Amino acid sequence: MTAETDARVARLLHHRKAGLALGEPITPAISVATTFHLPEAQGAAYYYGRSGQPTWDAVEAQLSILEAAETVSFPSGMAAITAALVCCLRAGAKVMLPSDGYYVTRLIGRDLLQVYGVEVVQVPTAQMAAEDFTGFDAIYIETPSNPGLDTLDIAALARKARAAGALLIADNTTMTPLLQRPLDLGADLVVAADTKAPAGHSDALFGHVAGRDANLMARIREWRRQSGSVPGPFEAFLVHRGLETLEVRLTRMCASAAAIAERLAAHRSVRGLRYPGLPGDASHKSIGSQMANGGFLIGFELAGEAEAEAFLSRCPLIEQATSFGGVHTAAERRSRWGDAVADGFIRLSVGVEPVETLWSAIDTALAG
Ligand SMILES: *Cc1c(COP(=O)(O)O)cnc(C)c1O
Repeated sequence: MTAETDARVARLLHHRKAGLALGEPITPAISVATTFHLPEAQGAAYYYGRSGQPTWDAVEAQLSILEAAETVSFPSGMAAITAALVCCLRAGAKVMLPSDGYYVTRLIGRDLLQVYGVEVVQVPTAQMAAEDFTGFDAIYIETPSNPGLDTLDIAALARKARAAGALLIADNTTMTPLLQRPLDLGADLVVAADTKAPAGHSDALFGHVAGRDANLMARIREWRRQSGSVPGPFEAFLVHRGLETLEVRLTRMCASAAAIAERLAAHRSVRGLRYPGLPGDASHKSIGSQMANGGFLIGFELAGEAEAEAFLSRCPLIEQATSFGGVHTAAERRSRWGDAVADGFIRLSVGVEPVETLWSAIDTALAG
């Protein structure tokens, strides 16, 4: 990672120091109060738990350091995505969504946006750059896409969106702000599921929206207050703790993924391997210019459904679970959710297990 990212990580770890009085705790409290002392209606930092509270502020301070932007936290990635879409669109507006992105985002397009009069156009990630953006109010991207791991040139898309008068919203979940910063590349809003690598231990649902336009961020904050889409204090605390080790975990996970992707690609049972960090991969062009490295997700195919399920059951160091970015290596066959991939396609999320031990478990399970 760059010296600039290193500096952000260090600042994140010490972000509370300057505000601490003598004898105060280093870690933030899990503040459970819903009401705050309010003899006057004006001037209090907090007044009611749906509008704001101290544990959210602690985690938002960390996220703002990583994003170099204002952030608003939400109770899940989907809550953050919904907030961004609702605040950028109104009846009669037109939005482009990736047809190969996170499937619940597509469901929001169909069951919420379309129902309220927004026109939704779905385009595969790999074809988005070639589309005409004229007439669109927002372009929503996921790069690398989940689970196909196709990438887009965010800076080029941001220029094109701006020229067409459309906002660019980027789901940055697969990379996290340590590995990719869409706002630096011109995106108007970042949305992310902190449920994944930022929380990192498969025990907290969380999300955030980040942006540098104060008016737009004020609308996002007001949406949270009005809709009541508010994170719990315990989850905010867990994500605060998770973010403190995000860089350490990602360093291990991404290095292990690179090693395992290379070996899987050379394995005779494996086909169609996708890992942006491998020089031959279609998404490799995005490494360096936009992504710090290839990430911790690998896509690959085994012969069919039966072979893929047998492999996943046999490997003792792979949790058979949906979701990704946790400390435990996890994998699943994505076609079980209706993703447009082969039946034997597996998405592997590499965890923090020592890499040679992990590889030997994978290698043994592949052998059958
Ligand atoms: C998991 C995920 C989401 C949704 O996050 P939740 O916290 O589960 O609501 C959105 N986008 C992507 C890319 C994801 O992987």
